[in-house]
Amino acid sequence: MRFTFVTLFPQIVEGYFSASILARAIEVGHMAIDFVNPRDYSTNRYKKVDEPMIGGGAGMLMSPQPLDDALTSLREASPDAHVVFLSPVGKPFRQNDAKRLAKKEHLVLVAGRYEGIDERIVELHADEIFSIGDYVLTGGELPAMVLCDAVARNLPGVLGNSESLETESFEEEFLEAPSFTKPDLYREKGIVSEFLKGNHSKIAAIKNRMAWAKTKYFRPDLIQRAKAKA
Ligand code: SAM
Repeated sequence: MRFTFVTLFPQIVEGYFSASILARAIEVGHMAIDFVNPRDYSTNRYKKVDEPMIGGGAGMLMSPQPLDDALTSLREASPDAHVVFLSPVGKPFRQNDAKRLAKKEHLVLVAGRYEGIDERIVELHADEIFSIGDYVLTGGELPAMVLCDAVARNLPGVLGNSESLETESFEEEFLEAPSFTKPDLYREKGIVSEFLKGNHSKIAAIKNRMAWAKTKYFRPDLIQRAKAKA
């Protein structure tokens, strides 16, 4: 799968993909990343990419022409590309979106800067708009990386053990149950003794109960959502 980051600051993104699981996924060809910088498309003699807001308002906006030309040229070269804008006003990005988007061939992730992007460009080019949470960041690069990472984990072959996907948080309506590793006793804290006995169905039942309790405490909204769906 191909990911294109549309960003004024590709250097922010590059480092993230140079180590660990995603670097390996790129190396062996499970995914590819590339960059388009709207500044390269600016027809302004100083390569300007921002303008003050019309009608007042603090700060600058990303101006239409460089982004429009960058995205038009991307779409011409890759007509099936799915274009996602990152914005605090988008719909909340969830695990089921990550799974759905993992089936696309080419995902284009558009990162805003300054006070955001001229709305006409969003209307012209966005197939979807996602927010990664109810807070405002200085730019869309982190949200684009978040989205890319969450999608990439669902690509075949990226995670060594695909079973780890199945038991993770958000796969069902629950968060993941608490997990432990060696040693059995750490700073006088033990673990659920049943975990040491190797009865897998018993362990699964205990983990289910723990996952439920954890979800009820931290994310009661997930339980409500599951009830509403049932
Ligand atoms: N003025 C905008 C607003 O109030 O909605 C915020 C603009 S923000 C400073 C600049 C860019 O950061 C946005 O265009 C977007 O790409 C990105 N961004 C910031 N917070 C985000 C979030 N929670 N989810 C997704 N993208 C976000």
